[in-house]
Amino acid sequence: MASTITFIGAGNMAGAIIGGMIESGFSPDDVIATSPSDDVLAPLRERLGIRTETDNATAVAQSDVVVLAVKPQIMREVCEQMREAVQARRPLIVSVAAGLPAEILEAWLGGALPLVRCMPNTPALVGAGAAGLFANDRVDEAQRRLATELMEAVGLVEWVEDEALLDAVTAVSGSAPAYFFLMFEAMEEAGVTLGLPADTARRLAMQTALGAAKMALASDQPPAELKRNVMSPGGTTERAIAHLEQAELRRIMAEAMTACADRAAEMA
Ligand code: NAD
Repeated sequence: MASTITFIGAGNMAGAIIGGMIESGFSPDDVIATSPSDDVLAPLRERLGIRTETDNATAVAQSDVVVLAVKPQIMREVCEQMREAVQARRPLIVSVAAGLPAEILEAWLGGALPLVRCMPNTPALVGAGAAGLFANDRVDEAQRRLATELMEAVGLVEWVEDEALLDAVTAVSGSAPAYFFLMFEAMEEAGVTLGLPADTARRLAMQTALGAAKMALASDQPPAELKRNVMSPGGTTERAIAHLEQAELRRIMAEAMTACADRAAEMA
């Protein structure tokens, strides 16, 4: 029999994952979303045909997987309220909440549970996410596969075997969409300085980032090689790259990402 998967919280992240799951072949009958307000649930029910429930414990009592998708600030209260139902059923817990360690979530839910902690990023909202996943040692192989399937519905999944590495994942993908948005801002501004209309510069920069990522993902060659392929000696690209190297872009990225990972560790 298929697993029943409940999402506690039916906001942006849950909506994105559920949408991806239905598109990738999960049956809407196997998915429940909860929220205290039916106003939040009705559009999901109508758009995706899933089941909904305003009482978390009622949903948990029927579930094999419970995805925690409420804001971190209310997570403790939500977990403690459904603790009894969780302990009676012992489903796989999957948390997408930023900054809450597996052990703390497990304790709030009464302890001794298989739990996967996931660090997603916002491109999951358009089906192009990148997520790092960590499983505690109560998670079995079938549950790992199921967690992979859930998150692959909205993008790439990479497992880490040490929970502390989720801080590194935060630096490399969780917070990283913003690095590229900053780059788009900078490229648009520079394009305007060079005489292009702002929206033309913006579209060209964004499409180029998409193209570069697609090319790099499809290629067997490492990025250094792909970079060399666009750089002819004495040419335009070589001039730009020399400038970026001289300005120590690599060092700047390393420092920014270390600061990001340190902050993630502080918050956990
Ligand atoms: P959101 O505010 O869009 O959704 C939260 C949902 O929780 C709402 O639908 C609300 O109705 C529901 N809710 C509130 N109280 C509840 C309760 N007692 N029981 C059940 N549901 C309740 O938030 P979001 O952006 O989807 O974030 C959800 C989680 O995902 C957070 O923990 C966040 O850290 C994580 N996350 C989000 C993103 C993102 O891009 N949005 C990225 C990474 C991680």
